Amino acid sequence: MGIRSTASRPKVYIKTFGCQMNEYDSLRILRLLESCGYERALSYEEATVILLNTCSVRRKAEDKVYSELGRIKKLKNRQSNFILGVGGCVAQQEGHNLVKRFPYIDIVFGTHCLSRLPVLIEKAFCGDKAVDVSMPAHSDIYPSDSYMPHSSQISAFISIMHGCDNYCSYCVVPFVRGREYSRDPDDILREVTNLVDAGIKEITLLGQNVNSYGRTVSPSLTFAALLRQLNVITGLERIRFTTSHPKDLSDQLIDCFAELDKLCGHIHLPLQSGSDRILDLMNRGYTSKEYRHKIHLLRQAVPDISITSDILVGFPGETNDDFRETLALIESIGYDDLFMFHYTDRPGTKASQYTAKVPYAVKIKRLSMIKEKQRNISLQKNMQLIGKTCSVLFEGHSKRGRGCIAGRTAGNKVVNCKGQPERIGTTAVVKIEKARIHSLSGKLI
Ligand code: SF4
Repeated sequence: MGIRSTASRPKVYIKTFGCQMNEYDSLRILRLLESCGYERALSYEEATVILLNTCSVRRKAEDKVYSELGRIKKLKNRQSNFILGVGGCVAQQEGHNLVKRFPYIDIVFGTHCLSRLPVLIEKAFCGDKAVDVSMPAHSDIYPSDSYMPHSSQISAFISIMHGCDNYCSYCVVPFVRGREYSRDPDDILREVTNLVDAGIKEITLLGQNVNSYGRTVSPSLTFAALLRQLNVITGLERIRFTTSHPKDLSDQLIDCFAELDKLCGHIHLPLQSGSDRILDLMNRGYTSKEYRHKIHLLRQAVPDISITSDILVGFPGETNDDFRETLALIESIGYDDLFMFHYTDRPGTKASQYTAKVPYAVKIKRLSMIKEKQRNISLQKNMQLIGKTCSVLFEGHSKRGRGCIAGRTAGNKVVNCKGQPERIGTTAVVKIEKARIHSLSGKLI
């Protein structure tokens, strides 16, 4: 790619909204543009190209993008010599409408055109608007070359698939991320090996539903089989993954938790609702009894496995009784932590057509009740760890003061303790002494 001629190298600033998949995509974009001669800008003001990698999974996330565009407009008025690109889910959803609504946007790039971005930027530098939201079926969206981590990085995300075929009735992802597509296992293994050679100790495999990995791979390969291949990579210490769909959580995958030494004892298994009636309206494909059974099997395989989940309150038609069933299931499962949201209509989804909308005030009240309940459960769970020893991979300096370092247990709990910075990047055993809702602290032993 030819880049605009400037005295120094052009700089790109990428602002990321939303989930880990977007963080991974932004990193791939940055590495791609670096290979084209760009360097990373540390602020909007010093950037030649500003890219927003957006999220539309909830209305709030989408609104954040629009208010950021308002801020950038003021900068464009003062300093018009940069290219502004908007990518990701909002770009995919809105396409040409974005340029109509915000004429100062130069590039709109959808979720499937990461590798075409250098060409789009070139076009924008020539003064043309560049909009690409095409979604070729069954294609890998990532540039074929591997990317390198920063030298201080200890853990890394790796996308193993993209898209989703589940069509949960509230979710916009199948519309903006396209059909489910699994990356070639050799590509994944190569990427992980390169990352480990560069010093990465822990990888997190990403996908909308990693449990169904491998359906588009030939010859087909299950997610459990992929984990077994990754587990033998020398130098790799920890493997995590997210997100799992309860309906696709296989016995083979549960066996992996018991058998693979590098697979961390933590699973994020979104429940969404404890009411079978609402689960059916959500098109989730499991009942609360089936979900409970999977939790039972997981705990049979690994008794102290850490379990987290997503809960969506105020789905259209959710009654007080439905909500009470959710509260009761949360209580009986005893999650280590929860991500809790209230329902908002997303464009094009089936649920957005449902008329029995729950009033905003009711949704907020239910959300705060559920948050309160989970705070107590999380604290109790963490207090059970006091006096126990945990293996902690230290990732950086702690926010809890000078001389403190922080890391995570295999169960994904944050642990702070006094320790030399040289410990960062290594694994050590810590005796837990104090528990808070979202973190633990202890002593190196
Ligand atoms: S599994 Fe359901 S909630 Fe998750 S991305 Fe797919 S459609 Fe959305």
